[in-house]
Formats: sequence, C-alpha cells, structure tokens
Amino acid sequence: MTQHTGRCTCGAIQITATGEPKSVGICHCMDCRKHHGAVFYAAATFDPSDVTIKGETAHYKNRHFCPTCGSSVFATSDGEVEIHLGILDEPNQFTPTYELWTDRREDWLPNLANTQKHKRDRSES
Ligand SMILES: [Zn+2]
Ligand SMILES: [Zn+2]
Repeated sequence: MTQHTGRCTCGAIQITATGEPKSVGICHCMDCRKHHGAVFYAAATFDPSDVTIKGETAHYKNRHFCPTCGSSVFATSDGEVEIHLGILDEPNQFTPTYELWTDRREDWLPNLANTQKHKRDRSES
C-alpha cells in the first residue's frame, strides 16, 4: 500500500497515511482559514484507521496543531481525518477535486478549472 508521510515544522508531530485519500478538497470558510492562517484550506481525507499519528497534538474544536511549533496538521470530523496538504512531504501528489464555501473565495485567486464548486458546504450547491 502507498504510504503518505508528513510532519509539522519542528518534527514533533509525524503523520503517515496509507492508501489513497477518500477525497481531496479546498475550503474557503472562515473557520478553516483562521485555523490555517492562509486564505484557503486544503486537505486530503482518510479513514482514521488508515492514519498513524506520532506525537501529542493540541486541538481547538478538533482542529489539531503542534503545541511546540504551532503548525496546523490535521482536523477530525464525521469519523474522518483531514490531513492538511501543506504538512505532507509531497503535497503535489494530491489534486483537489472540489471547493467549499466559494462564497468566501478571494477575488484575486485564479479559477481552478478542475474543481467542483460549492457555495457553502458539500450538501448545499
Ligand atoms: Zn511541531
Ligand atoms: Zn471550512
């Protein structure tokens, strides 16, 4: 099985995910942006059983970060682990296929041709 590895800036948190992600997406919602400190959030979603996390994270509302260096590393929701693309050793291996909360998208961001766009959450159009 393919293994995908990642770590926080200081290396105290190390993540390994096995197999292919269930989904890869971008979110422009305010909560995701605040957590990332970036204008959009990008993550690959895995089953918790496919993810191994070494090191102790701290979290705020299930958004986990390294207590030493502050890197935001993953989030948990609805029985899934969302691994942030930016902490992966090879982020380019995953291409987002959808965008959430495009209502909040920055005007200066170029259009991504190959993503399915949702104005808000995936359940809404
Ligand atoms: Zn760290
Ligand atoms: Zn979001």
